[in-house]
Amino acid sequence: MRGRNSVYYKTSEEIEILRENCLLVCKTHALVASLLKPGVNPLDIDKKAEEFIRDHNAKPGFKGYRGFPATLCFSPNAVVVHGIPSNVEVKTGDIVSVDCGVEANGFFGDAAYTFIVGEVDDSVRRLCQVTRESLYRGINKAVVGNRLGDISHAIQDYAEKENGYGIVRELVGHGIGKSLHEPPDVPNFGKKGRGILLKEGLVLAIEPMVNLGKRHVQQLNDGWTIITSDRKPSAHYEHSIAITQSGPDILSDHSIIEEEIKKNPELSEI
Ligand code: MG
Ligand code: MG
Repeated sequence: MRGRNSVYYKTSEEIEILRENCLLVCKTHALVASLLKPGVNPLDIDKKAEEFIRDHNAKPGFKGYRGFPATLCFSPNAVVVHGIPSNVEVKTGDIVSVDCGVEANGFFGDAAYTFIVGEVDDSVRRLCQVTRESLYRGINKAVVGNRLGDISHAIQDYAEKENGYGIVRELVGHGIGKSLHEPPDVPNFGKKGRGILLKEGLVLAIEPMVNLGKRHVQQLNDGWTIITSDRKPSAHYEHSIAITQSGPDILSDHSIIEEEIKKNPELSEI
């Protein structure tokens, strides 16, 4: 019997559905990458993302989730996550963290990417590089026989100890499957050798949120937007991954997004 708080391990067929959904998420991010430029209205991008997802026989995974009003979380600069797209235009020098989910065939998909619009200070580019690398450091520990804390520790160790950034504590990664957020929580901080044993069929959304300054965050009065307390920039990269006997299987694919970034002269590569 499966209790409310127990982990749901996926079959290989279910993992293939999740992969298909995660690829649609990344194609939606690629569409965002083709549209992002100074002066663009985030509400227009959100509308096009929703149409794109629906044209692919899927539903936006976030719209309506606990009342969230949009298809994308659109989080510029000091906004960490859960920004609501508004008609505040994108500017050159912004970094924009975009998070997207979809639902199709009874399962979700989830991935996030931080885009650089125009040119930014080296310190901000480095924040993006380190955040993305911390995600891969975590994924590398997502192997059968390790524990959840090995993933968390690898992320924290790289971003905080090696690079001196602030890891957000209040928001964490999660299991993903028939629900957008399933057990277990996947913190981006923790101790090696702690937490549940990683087994084949566990599917996790791993998503470090890393601040240039201090780790502390606040929620705005809209009930969603999470922003750094010191108003310094924050970055966010997310993959959904499956744990298999042959190692971590990354279901989402950032290369689809990065190909589109290369084609858009208004964006910089990380
Ligand atoms: Mg996400
Ligand atoms: Mg997520």
